[in-house]
Amino acid sequence: MIKIGITGGIGSGKSTVCKVFSAIGIPVFEADLEAKQLMNADPEIRRQLTDTFGAAVYLPDQTIDRKYLAGIVFSNPSLLAKLNGIVHPAVRKAFSDWCEKQNSPYVLHEAAILFESGFYKLMDKTIVVIATEKERIERVMKRDHAAAEQVIQRIRNQMNDAERIRLADFVISNNDNELITPQIVDIDKKIRANG
Ligand code: ATP
Repeated sequence: MIKIGITGGIGSGKSTVCKVFSAIGIPVFEADLEAKQLMNADPEIRRQLTDTFGAAVYLPDQTIDRKYLAGIVFSNPSLLAKLNGIVHPAVRKAFSDWCEKQNSPYVLHEAAILFESGFYKLMDKTIVVIATEKERIERVMKRDHAAAEQVIQRIRNQMNDAERIRLADFVISNNDNELITPQIVDIDKKIRANG
């Protein structure tokens, strides 16, 4: 099974691109969603997170308080490494189990931090979705009802596009004046041809 990692900065449109791949029959594993589900539902992960960060990482309704957790690890690399050490191996296992059940020439692994997490090393190829900063800011402001400064700060905290492009095998350009479907069809052909 060929594994393709797909990533992109906030508001680049990676989820939108994944929906097109999904529409042409390619299974998509959403790593961020999986991580959240594991933190909410896996008893062992819950225990490790509570032991490491305290009971306050869970909200009164027992779901993970991602904002609180992000606040703790944001400026503390050693706590971030601890969090990743708990969550990443579980996501990796979930991905590998999920792959076994797929029947497709290739699968997509969608993650916001594909490169930062090192997950890209487990992939056969990687795709990055890019768009101008101006468009990304406008989209996220509209989607999340966020302030421009908030979005800009999140962009600054992420890896930049030049670095992502350097690491990726394929680039999908998703600006308002560009069509993503022909780019996706082209990449799909190339992946199938090399598989
Ligand atoms: P995040 O990292 O925040 O999850 P993302 O990279 O997955 O973002 P999407 O959620 O796919 O990005 O797109 C962000 C918003 O922009 C969505 O509301 C989406 O509908 C919209 N959008 C995506 N691509 C385009 C486009 N080409 N033209 C206009 N709007 C777009």
